[in-house]
Amino acid sequence: MALVFEHVSYTYAPLTKRQVKEGQSPLWALNDISFSIEDGEFLAIAGHTGSGKSTLVLHLNGVLEPTKGRVLWNGQDLSDKKVANLARGDIGIVFQYPEHQLFAATVYEDVAFGPRNLGLSAEEVEARVKAALELVELDYEDFKDRSPFELSGGQQRRVAFAGVLAMKPTTLVLDEPVAGLDPASRNDFLAFIDRLHKKHGITLVMVSHNMNDIARLADRVLVLDRGEIALAGTPEEVFSHAIELREIGLGVPHAQRMANELRELGVPLEEGLYSPESLADRLAMLLENR
Ligand code: ADP
Repeated sequence: MALVFEHVSYTYAPLTKRQVKEGQSPLWALNDISFSIEDGEFLAIAGHTGSGKSTLVLHLNGVLEPTKGRVLWNGQDLSDKKVANLARGDIGIVFQYPEHQLFAATVYEDVAFGPRNLGLSAEEVEARVKAALELVELDYEDFKDRSPFELSGGQQRRVAFAGVLAMKPTTLVLDEPVAGLDPASRNDFLAFIDRLHKKHGITLVMVSHNMNDIARLADRVLVLDRGEIALAGTPEEVFSHAIELREIGLGVPHAQRMANELRELGVPLEEGLYSPESLADRLAMLLENR
């Protein structure tokens, strides 16, 4: 169990002593959040804008410290600066639009920046850059000397991912990883994220408000609403709460909505068909057996 949130609450505006005395309560951006991220899983964190997703992510590398409660990384408290520094290599965070952070003249220099800061030898840095570019499926010889700024949007985002992967994290946290990509690169990118998880065994945490993307990839879903965990469980469990999801502005995946509508028309479909693949398989089976 690599990361554990224990009753974490956070406020951006702590109260003055006087306000506390007067019995006021702060505005919580996170309110009593407890959950853990298991090694090897794909956890999605969903929620409407303002629900606390970014605040939660900033607790994963110790940038923000809980106002109340603790975040433990391998049993150690992340509010300890030494622990947070060690955790930073192990938990890689890719923020929204990571390509905006690219800065170097070549792809090689950009990806090498993190490993170089670790004080690694030139050989080790090169090995890390090669391995990271391989992980993001960009050919090393082809890309290493190119300027990141002449690449396509999808390629730039892969280079930014490579910079984080070059730190050899065991856990990768992705904040809205396909935001701003066109539909075709979006699909490619989601498939790439799935491979990173399945083929390379990287623990993945994906922050998203897109229930279709979550249905496609996640093993487990945590739904935040106004700083609290509104729902948690497998996609099947979470998506069965269609009414609650609608109330917090999220809805269910398209495939599940279609399954619900077909069920209402009398097509015998069971619950839990939330991905296009499972729905298509089930419909194909029904047609074959007619
Ligand atoms: P999300 O990522 O789901 O959109 P956030 O974590 O950004 O949600 O926001 C959670 C709550 O904290 C919101 O009420 C938001 O207004 C507030 N908040 C976020 N960042 C700040 C900040 N820097 N200062 C004050 N309040 C903030």
